[in-house]
Amino acid sequence: MSETPTFDIAIIGAGPGALCAAHGLANLGFSVGVFERARALRPIGAALGLAEAGYKALALIDADLATQVRALAANPQRQLLMRPNGEVLFSDESPLAGTPFTWLAWYNLQSSLHNTLPPTVSLHLNHKFVNFTKVADASKTPLRLHFENQPDVGARVLIGADGYYSVVRGLTVGDGAPLYTGTMTWRGILPRQILAPLAEPFAEGAGFQLVVGDQKNFWIMDAGAEVLAWGGTALHPTSEKSTDVLAMVLQVFDQWTPFVERVIRATDPTTIVETGVFDREPVSQWGDRERITLLGDAAHPMRPSLGLGATMAFEDAVALTKKLKGLNLQDTPSVAKALTDYEEERIAIATPLQLKARQGGEASHASDQADQLKIGFELALAARRHREMTISD
Ligand SMILES: Cc1cc2nc3c(=O)[nH]c(=O)nc-3n(C[C@H](O)[C@H](O)[C@H](O)COP(=O)(O)OP(=O)(O)OC[C@H]3O[C@@H](n4cnc5c(N)ncnc54)[C@H](O)[C@@H]3O)c2cc1C
Repeated sequence: MSETPTFDIAIIGAGPGALCAAHGLANLGFSVGVFERARALRPIGAALGLAEAGYKALALIDADLATQVRALAANPQRQLLMRPNGEVLFSDESPLAGTPFTWLAWYNLQSSLHNTLPPTVSLHLNHKFVNFTKVADASKTPLRLHFENQPDVGARVLIGADGYYSVVRGLTVGDGAPLYTGTMTWRGILPRQILAPLAEPFAEGAGFQLVVGDQKNFWIMDAGAEVLAWGGTALHPTSEKSTDVLAMVLQVFDQWTPFVERVIRATDPTTIVETGVFDREPVSQWGDRERITLLGDAAHPMRPSLGLGATMAFEDAVALTKKLKGLNLQDTPSVAKALTDYEEERIAIATPLQLKARQGGEASHASDQADQLKIGFELALAARRHREMTISD
């Protein structure tokens, strides 16, 4: 009989949080197995915003990796805010121009994290985690992990980085399904040249265009060299996926300013990502405070209104890496203390942000959201220009 493969640390999921943690933990000298249910790491037709905190966390794991990711991303230079009928509310330099904030294509982030994994990390695709068993015999590896139609794996530490439907969380916290917020999102990516020539705000430099009204939002932005990304959100009665996603998104944004339909129709419909927005109530413990914990959306799923999901996952990875540094993983009390300290530190940060993201998500579908955004952009730009003037005086 073949021996059960054993890792110091097993991570469930291969999203940004898992891969970032795999880098950090492998750099400490641990053998790391990453187990992902997908059969392949496919490019996802979505983009995400990464601000300074996200890059800072990534750089603490690997400075070269952070530089590499940033080089694939785009800092918005110009910004346009419109109502669905095309009325322009704001058209100016982006308040984020010249800051570390960038938009980047999801697959660029995932491939950078994946392609640079240290050799002591092994990625196992087609491994859907279902359960674990604790092994009482102290001479053996303490955790045995079970997968659907795959052999078991042994591990000393288990990290659930398996997203907001986390199976690991189901076994540790046991708080059921995530909460559907009543908001649906559609996202897509397309080569910039398909839409050329492009007008303001995309004509020169990276642009960001936001169309807001009817309690819905649509945004289009440069998300790296020659890549445009778009997204839309609307209140929606169910989180179930549509049978025809293209027809659905066209219907949701029907009669909006023509650029919206042009962008949607220019996207390969098979790559459009339709995702319900979920969150959960914050909890005071994520794992078993012995050998199992969570990170990223599995630990603190939050509405995307703050654009902090990936940043928080990276920060979790940094915190966990710091706590496990130099530990002998056979020393159960030390491992338990490290995981407890990690959870306490991160829960204190994540809890208020989860609640703030919930409020932000609700506000983003308010009937006066366009007017609120206009005021916010004007204030942010004025504050930045004031700061620049003060510095140069
Ligand atoms: C519309 C929208 C916009 C967003 N915008 C931003 C943004 O601008 N900035 C930002 O930082 N964040 C944003 N986010 C949030 C961000 O996408 C998440 O916070 C981030 O992906 C969390 O990463 P993760 O690694 O924790 O989980 P995930 O990316 O969800 O990865 C989890 C992985 O686990 C795998 N998995 C699940 N179950 C199992 C299992 N049983 N066994 C094995 N593998 C499993 C999944 O296949 C997946 O690969 C946005 C989210 C949405 C929906």
